[in-house]
Amino acid sequence: MNKMNDKFLLRVEGLTVSFDGFKAVNDLSFYVEPNECRVIIGPNGAGKTTVLDLICGRTKATDGSVKFKGQELLEMREDQIVHAGVGRKFQTPSVYEDLTVFENLELSYPKGHGVFGALTFKRDEAVKSRIKEIAATIFLDGMLEEKAAYLSHGQKQWLEIGMLLIQDPELLMLDEPVAGMSVAERKKTAELLNRIIKDRSVIVIEHDMGFVEDIATRVTVLHQGKTLSEGSMERVQNDPKVIEVYLGH
Ligand code: ADP
Ligand code: MG
Repeated sequence: MNKMNDKFLLRVEGLTVSFDGFKAVNDLSFYVEPNECRVIIGPNGAGKTTVLDLICGRTKATDGSVKFKGQELLEMREDQIVHAGVGRKFQTPSVYEDLTVFENLELSYPKGHGVFGALTFKRDEAVKSRIKEIAATIFLDGMLEEKAAYLSHGQKQWLEIGMLLIQDPELLMLDEPVAGMSVAERKKTAELLNRIIKDRSVIVIEHDMGFVEDIATRVTVLHQGKTLSEGSMERVQNDPKVIEVYLGH
């Protein structure tokens, strides 16, 4: 497949991982387009987090292929995958509590591009304006000098998303980003995601169906490590197989 005319940014094919014989992800295939927000839903233990672990290189696959812009991610290390343009946010926020919002974002700014050479001043100005831009995107532009410890749980989640956005990933993966957020914060997070997919694709794991409806381009329902159903929110919600799995719990 020539990557120049590939309509997909990410191709997951036959992805499988076996933990002592138990296949947490079992021959899974799905495809993500540019500027798509793909939501993965499914019961606890379905393998959702493991799928993200496999794509970002944290867990080694037993079998299959994960192609990102034509590159085989399963042959790459975690840091190489980040460098290729894949960002991943874990379930619990991991911001530096003792540092300010500005400093947290500054630490995440990609280093060593050398575009400005010895002109440190110019680089500093570029970094500052990028930090301000990201802070506005994540609703924290008024809080740049605030220590992260004083942010609400929701604001910490946004800061962590900002720390990924500043690296400008083409694919951003978020594991339950609105867990523990207020309704108002959930609405703002949906607004944030709808804005950032104009420049990238996002894979989100989420339970809150109202939130899923606000953000999803397509939904993949995972069950026992496999795709149970896939398509628009409306299509999967009305799929008898999905209704059975959810009502059977
Ligand atoms: P979900 O995120 O959908 O709730 P997970 O991907 O966390 O599910 O887990 C899927 C299944 O794989 C669970 O049964 C879990 O216990 C198992 N699992 C996940 N990671 C490991 C691991 N490193 N070793 C053994 N079993 C694991
Ligand atoms: Mg999980």
